[in-house]
Amino acid sequence: MMYNGNPVSAGIATGPAYLYTPFKPVVEKKEIDEAQVPQALAQYEDVKGKARAELDAIRDKLEKDDPEKAKIFIAHQDILEDPAMDEEIREVIEEDQLSPESAIAKVYDKFARLLSKAEDDLIRERVADINDVKNRLLRIWFGVPEKNLSTLERPVVVVAHDLFPSDTATLDRSKVLAIVTEIGGATSHSAIIARSYEIPALLGVPGVMDLLTDGETVVVDAVEGKLFTQADDATLDLYAKKREEYLVKAADLKKYRNVKPVTKDGVHIAVHLNIGSAEDKDLAGQDCADGVGLFRSEFLYMGRPELPSEEEQVAIYTKALDTFGADRPVTLRTLDIGGDKKLDSMELPVEDNPFLGLRALRLCFAHPDVFKTQLRAALRAGTHGALWIMFPMVGSMDDIRRAKGMVDEVKKELDAEGVPYGDHVKIGIMIEIPSIAMISDIAAKEVDFASIGTNDLCQYLTAVDRLNPTVSSYYQTYHPAMFRLIGQVVRDFNEAGKPVSVCGEMGGDPLSAAVLIGLGFRKLSMGVASVPSIKKLITGLTIPRAEALARTVVDMSSAEEVEKYLRQELADLL
Ligand code: PEP
Ligand code: MG
Repeated sequence: MMYNGNPVSAGIATGPAYLYTPFKPVVEKKEIDEAQVPQALAQYEDVKGKARAELDAIRDKLEKDDPEKAKIFIAHQDILEDPAMDEEIREVIEEDQLSPESAIAKVYDKFARLLSKAEDDLIRERVADINDVKNRLLRIWFGVPEKNLSTLERPVVVVAHDLFPSDTATLDRSKVLAIVTEIGGATSHSAIIARSYEIPALLGVPGVMDLLTDGETVVVDAVEGKLFTQADDATLDLYAKKREEYLVKAADLKKYRNVKPVTKDGVHIAVHLNIGSAEDKDLAGQDCADGVGLFRSEFLYMGRPELPSEEEQVAIYTKALDTFGADRPVTLRTLDIGGDKKLDSMELPVEDNPFLGLRALRLCFAHPDVFKTQLRAALRAGTHGALWIMFPMVGSMDDIRRAKGMVDEVKKELDAEGVPYGDHVKIGIMIEIPSIAMISDIAAKEVDFASIGTNDLCQYLTAVDRLNPTVSSYYQTYHPAMFRLIGQVVRDFNEAGKPVSVCGEMGGDPLSAAVLIGLGFRKLSMGVASVPSIKKLITGLTIPRAEALARTVVDMSSAEEVEKYLRQELADLL
């Protein structure tokens, strides 16, 4: 059988399906009779014994494959065997007469709360581990088999209704052959991470969780957008060959990774990276880039029960800034939560249209303490390297002035405390809401720089939810309106002499990147996986050739026409 999907991260893979549903325990307080106490204590011991066995097995395996990760599970074993928690759970069962699952939830939550208030960062970081062990115990209690993307047993094709960005950020890349989901579009964050990890991904395959059984072999063609189940030998052979061909082509492209991004007529087009953390895996691409055009700082906040502290953030931002040094800027985007990105550490309102709701800068205005902590950390780290701070989801001049006002407030506080901070930090905005794009001449006077977030700009300009596969054909980044609007922004910023770039996915797509260069951009930012194909394009292009493309597409009438034309015109550079 063959099904269609949206290929959002290219590649071809064959392997067993791993159906993944994240486990989220819901525990209601349940009382028991005195007579049930001995049985409840025995049940608690039983659950604990099973958790111990699972942790032993994971630790043994990781000690061979990945000793660093094994340490996490040794810490989990310590928590499981912690005498204070163990004693308190037994007391709660015996004296408060609560069921084992209620007692586990109550005591683990209490310890997590206590630790989350600790001064010491290292102690606070244990909260995530406590919650992890709690979830393990409760999962065993509810009889749900273990499913986890960070400790996969063997190479698999991960299949899910949807993946949270935190699932994708923690998954064991070496074991994930491909990702297939029921929802999500090319600019969902799962897609963006899959691309940066170079994992083939096919999103928007409706009902795929019901179509497949765990472990059955599937073929994922994330080049043409096809999923095969019950494939016959001929199909399996064909796709083994296609995979080989694909890998040869990808290896060939990699030759361009470290070339200087200069056009044939000698114009340097700065190539910057989009990163989601300052972990080594993200910074490993630094040698091929002129800086960081987008550091999605919200990933530091996701997949953990507490907010990152100021000190933790200072250390992370400093690491990124030191890596890139004084001549290569790091553009730190402030917290962009909402839409498809949720936090465990913050209660967010349930909204009918979250992408049009309390998102990003708006959420930061509603939680000034969270925003100010991040700004303090950023400014303090700004004594290192070249820091550019960038605000997401700016819709008006009021937004810009208010955010800048908060930066000034934070600077005054740091001055009063005698805390040093970077005095050359640049302040800029993302242009991703049409209302600010349309007054970019006015905005350019108020900021040091801008970067165009084409992923959101397209969703707001064309009125298409970027995650909804049923309308994905309407999400048209090649829409001539996109190029007209972006063209106006780049003209305004160039005239004002202020740096402007593109950090949405269009910056890493060779077809649109050629037009963007023609429109006047001299800086593009992208996931590291796109660097070779964009450098191949840049080094084969001349500015007049790019300008001719730009002049033509803004006068075309449809995205289809634009794409066809660009494919034809740029065939030698793809
Ligand atoms: C964008 O909207 O284009 C962008 C770069 O931000 P994000 O994809 O994180 O929303
Ligand atoms: Mg955005």
